[in-house]
Amino acid sequence: MTTSRRDFLKVTTIGGVAVSILGFDLTSAYAEVREMKIARTTETRSTCPYCAVGCGIIIHTLGDKSANVKPAIVHIEGDADHPTNRGALCSKGITLKQDVVNDRRLTTVKYRAPGSSEWQEKSWDFAIDRIAHLLKQARDEKLVMADAQGHTVNALTSVGVIGGCTDTNEINYLLVKAFRAGLSIIPLEQQARI
Ligand code: SF4
Repeated sequence: MTTSRRDFLKVTTIGGVAVSILGFDLTSAYAEVREMKIARTTETRSTCPYCAVGCGIIIHTLGDKSANVKPAIVHIEGDADHPTNRGALCSKGITLKQDVVNDRRLTTVKYRAPGSSEWQEKSWDFAIDRIAHLLKQARDEKLVMADAQGHTVNALTSVGVIGGCTDTNEINYLLVKAFRAGLSIIPLEQQARI
């Protein structure tokens, strides 16, 4: 069989096909590349943040934790020991590294004042104070103490709380304690219960 340079590039691009067409078994080479990529990394177990399935992931970070070294995420993969996904990730979850290592990712608070078209950069303290202020204002104005028949309800329905899909049962328990028992907020929902 004669193979042109173009054909060679074409078949090596699609890996598995090259194995059968050229007779080379590249399986161990691919395994080697993967091993080199995650050599000397720190493994951190986490949960995919995208949907309520709650797949387990392993984040590989490079960096020896020295003060002058900034850790870098070099690889994210499915956690083979996780009971939900057994190492598999869907087409969205497999792109997680691009979600984290991305120069367009927002890492600071952006605030757009009422009526303004401009975004301003603010501190986290500003954001927390602003949320606390608006939450108190909404509760002071909208808390329903009793229904039409005079039964005590203490219900705040003008504010909603939603937990993230990486929240554990324990975090969800605290959400209910803080927002329903503490602030009387009725609309409250979580995604995954991991
Ligand atoms: S990997 Fe896919 S299915 Fe699993 S939690 Fe992420 S988005 Fe959902």
